[in-house]
Amino acid sequence: MSVKEILRMGNPLLRKEAEDFTIEEIKSPETKLLLEDMWDSLEVAGGIGLAAPQIGILKKLAVIKLSEESDRYPDMEDSEPYVIFNPKVSVVDETEQGFWEGCLSVPGLRGFVERPRSIRVDFLDENAVPRTIEAEDFLATVFQHELDHLVGKLYVDRMKDIKTLMFEEEMVFDEIKEEVLD
Ligand code: ZN
Repeated sequence: MSVKEILRMGNPLLRKEAEDFTIEEIKSPETKLLLEDMWDSLEVAGGIGLAAPQIGILKKLAVIKLSEESDRYPDMEDSEPYVIFNPKVSVVDETEQGFWEGCLSVPGLRGFVERPRSIRVDFLDENAVPRTIEAEDFLATVFQHELDHLVGKLYVDRMKDIKTLMFEEEMVFDEIKEEVLD
């Protein structure tokens, strides 16, 4: 097990476009180790998703696992663990939905971000097998957030109103949520 340091906003590696993996690379022992490090780092950080550029690897890989037990995002249901190589995202329903997003690379802060409510993602799994999933609701936002990391984007770039950027410790979460959603 190896827990990697998570780069924070301001590090130029978070602003670069990542490169695709080859099939051989996905199947290599090095990538298996990288995946273990990603899951370990995500678990220790208490997050629900992590992209390889966040640990300084400029390759198109992200892992996502929603957990009921997350303190960071209450009222969330467990999801399967997703391993996503070389994703292509397309919008299924462009109706926007908003969530208070946080990011392990932007610690301590939350911002209100609106994104399409349903997307399709074509990607390769950990065995380099092509998969397609349609994600809706909160999972759609999580996928878009993580996959943005692979093209050098952070959630703050997607915010329409910078006044909703807040320190978690200052947020009276329910009140703010109602205010913004009204
Ligand atoms: Zn993030």
